Amino acid sequence: MSDCLFCKIVAGGIPAKRLYEDELCLAFADISPQAPVHVLVIPKEHVASMAHTTAEHAGLLGHLAAAAARIALEQGLEKGYRIVINTGEDGGQTVDHLHLHVLGGRPMGWPPG
Ligand code: 5GP
Repeated sequence: MSDCLFCKIVAGGIPAKRLYEDELCLAFADISPQAPVHVLVIPKEHVASMAHTTAEHAGLLGHLAAAAARIALEQGLEKGYRIVINTGEDGGQTVDHLHLHVLGGRPMGWPPG
């Protein structure tokens, strides 16, 4: 998608602090971190949100989750972390390209806002 911010980051058209990359996904630092560690893990292919996934995305979703867990360990989050997928308007999604937030480095509150 040519007008998608995260597709532009994947393509290198917009700079980002890239932390991990493979054939299916890219992880980069969030521009407005909400915790000492705040990484976004995204599929390289454009998928608008969790609500746009189907059974065909099961492998990709597993890949993203495994990458997020590995990145959390690489970032030193042995004490724990939170993975968040905001979805749609009520879910607080602001960028319409599926992304997993990996947040850690401080205790997380519950319930989320
Ligand atoms: P959402 O609100 O959709 O769940 O999360 C979008 C995230 O993307 C936000 O945490 C926001 O800070 C981050 N973000 C928005 N624009 C940029 C950008 O240009 N670069 C990076 N690295 N992160 C961005």
